[in-house]
Amino acid sequence: TTWQPAPNRYDAQSLRYCGRSGLQLPAISLGLWHNFGGVDDAAAAHALLRHAFDSGITHIDLANNYGPPPGSAEVLFGEWLRRDMPGELRDELVISTKAGYRMGPGPYGDGGSRKYLFNSLDASLRRMGLGHVDIFYHHRPDPNTPLAETMAALSDVVRMGKALYVGVSNYPAALAREAAALLRAAGTPCLIHQPRYNLLERTPEQGLLQTLVDEGVGCIPFSPLAQGLLSDRYLDGAIPADSRAAQPHSFLKPAAITPQLLQRLRGLAAVADARGQPLAGMAVRWLLQRPAVCSVLIGASRPAQIDAAWAAVRAPALTDEELRALDALCA
Ligand code: NDP
Repeated sequence: TTWQPAPNRYDAQSLRYCGRSGLQLPAISLGLWHNFGGVDDAAAAHALLRHAFDSGITHIDLANNYGPPPGSAEVLFGEWLRRDMPGELRDELVISTKAGYRMGPGPYGDGGSRKYLFNSLDASLRRMGLGHVDIFYHHRPDPNTPLAETMAALSDVVRMGKALYVGVSNYPAALAREAAALLRAAGTPCLIHQPRYNLLERTPEQGLLQTLVDEGVGCIPFSPLAQGLLSDRYLDGAIPADSRAAQPHSFLKPAAITPQLLQRLRGLAAVADARGQPLAGMAVRWLLQRPAVCSVLIGASRPAQIDAAWAAVRAPALTDEELRALDALCA
């Protein structure tokens, strides 16, 4: 490789402690759900990873199934690590992965069993070429597996050195509290919780955020821009050809962009405009002011979107009046 990371990469980095732990995370983390799969341009994806690291993003979020095809994002990321992040540079990254959605055929390719979690983490480590990840998550609750089995499996992967910390994702408040108690009792506290949370999706406000504050678990909201809806991309009612909503394999369908949603987005954009900030930036800034939030987990299709997220971190805090206006628009 001829690439060298920027020597000033930590100068403007903004960090927060994740819950009641000693692990600091960057205010902006990058997720590889979209744009880093086998269907994507690998050179562009590697350039995005370089740009992210140079800008102070030291936390990369993956899952066993990211692609498409499933697993290919971990392969692409592993290639980048080998090419650009040799030796101890890897230790400058917090690398996260997950298991919990269907990944393989049969009864051991999905769910929350010890069998699936162990097999899946080993396969993720092989794809990335790593000896351990920094954070391993159970990706979603499995009502058919005893919670104690899933939490014991998480605790044991830490004990075995396959992960340094563990977390859960998409768990409702009561289950998150139970999971935190089991993990604490096992001596491997729950580090982090990853819910869908943004201006338009407020479910975590109904108990989850308070639970995370009480339990000392950090919150890392995913889809902070509602997959790009909370930006200027769709405001004029058209679907740009290079947008996520136009991609055949994406989960953001054009039909979701209704006239009612557009009206709401335009209202939010007016508040952002009055602050002199783009809507996407205001959506990130808003999350950074919510209880328990330690980092905002963005997606990006181009380097400028990473820069826009960091600009939001440095933007002035939303005032109480602005917060009330946003709540009213989103009610
Ligand atoms: P976002 O809500 O941040 O959406 C990211 C997309 O929005 C980008 O790919 C881009 O799409 C668009 N965008 C970003 N910045 C801007 C900007 N400044 N202006 C205009 N458009 C912008 O997050 P994701 O939905 O991608 O989720 C982020 C991460 O969260 C994932 O990668 C994954 O790691 C994690 N996640 C976890 C889940 C879980 O169950 N635990 C579920 C979903 C995500 P484009 O340019 O292509 O239109």
